[in-house]
Parts: sequence; structure tokens; C-alpha cells
Amino acid sequence: MLLLLLIVAGLISPPADTGAPADDSTFYIDSVLWEVRAAPGGSTEGIALLTIDDGPQKDTTRELLDLLAAHDVRALFFINGEPASAFPERVQEMIDGGHMVGNHGWGHKDLATLSADETAREILRVNEWLQQHKDYAPTFFRPPYGISTPAADSIVWDAGMRNMGWSVNSTDYLFPDNEDSVEQDARQVAERTLAGLENGNIILMHDRPVTVEALRIILPELEARGIRLVLPNAW
Ligand SMILES: [Zn+2]
Repeated sequence: MLLLLLIVAGLISPPADTGAPADDSTFYIDSVLWEVRAAPGGSTEGIALLTIDDGPQKDTTRELLDLLAAHDVRALFFINGEPASAFPERVQEMIDGGHMVGNHGWGHKDLATLSADETAREILRVNEWLQQHKDYAPTFFRPPYGISTPAADSIVWDAGMRNMGWSVNSTDYLFPDNEDSVEQDARQVAERTLAGLENGNIILMHDRPVTVEALRIILPELEARGIRLVLPNAW
């Protein structure tokens, strides 16, 4: 009921066209627990949100997109501006694939080390790039290293975005990109991700080779558990 009132009051945006398969449910982010929830009337059981940070990357983004498409699931890619301007076609492929694109800062800088002006530049430059090159306005911001500041919070808010954290850390970034151990590393990443996974969790992953292999294990397991990956279309 509260959510409906908020929607009526205009505090929560109506569902946007994400390009995802038809699903009337409205999903929003609980920014206290960092979970994705269905609005009343929607299906609340067996949902999770997959977020993939630090892309695009020349090769792994393509592999991730192929894998996600093969399982007919959508993710939220938190991109950085520097690789986006190097591989703009990968960002287009994310959008064309029905995925969401979020802002993860231009150069993945620790915002706590920046002045307010530098913070604004670091954040808003990504939005400007997306607007100019992709006619796309991101809804969510994830601060690099998960470290935000009061200045960053107000810049994000004023830009019409919301912060997003996570509730399940895959720890994929702890593993080196070593071809010899990637399968073993991927099994560990998959185990850590799946071990405590609960309904509504937001999963933190990164655009890296080990993550591609881990998702080859994780995505079928989610299907077996009846967990759907959904995208937030309201807040
Ligand atoms: Zn990052």
C-alpha cells in the first residue's frame, strides 16, 4: 500500500521500458537492506538482481552478453566512462540486449580522495557521455569501492539518480585473471555467490574472465532454484 501511495504521489517512478521480456511486475530497490523487491501485486518470491561492475571490457563483456542472452536473463552493468569511450559498441550491445546501464564513475576513482568539483566531474561526465552517445540516462550510481561521500550523494540525487549497494559479494575481484586456474577460481566464486543467496539479494560481480566462468555455473543453478533475475524499474 505504501508503495502504491508513493507511486500516486509521484515519489516512485512508473515502470520504464527496459526491453526485458513482458512482466507486469514493478521492482524497486530497498536502499536499507540493498535488496530488490516487487511492488504489491507482483511476484515477490524467487527474485534477485545481478549487477556487473567495471565494464565494458573488450572481450569479456561480449562473452557475458552472450551468456546472459543464452539464459534469457538481464543484468545491470555499472560502467566506467573511460572503457565506455574506448568500447562504445559494447555499451550499445548492453542497451540493445535489454540490460540496464548504471554509472560507476568516469575513471573508477575513490570519491573520498576528490574535491566536490572533482567528484561532480567524475560522476556527471559518465551521464553526459551516455546522453550524447547513447541517448541514455542512467537511473543508478554505484560509487567505486562502494565508498560514497556527502558531496557524491547530493550530486547523484541532483542528477536524478539513486545509489546502489549490494547484499551478496561474489568476491570475483579477489581472483587474478590466470588462465590456468580460472575454472577452479570460478567454482569458488560461484560457491561464495550461491552459498548465502536469499530472495531479493543484489549480487555484486565484475566484468572479468573469472566471472564469465562463474556465471556458467551460477545461472543454471539459479534456474534450478527457481530464482529469476529482474531489473529495477522504479524507486
Ligand atoms: Zn568497481
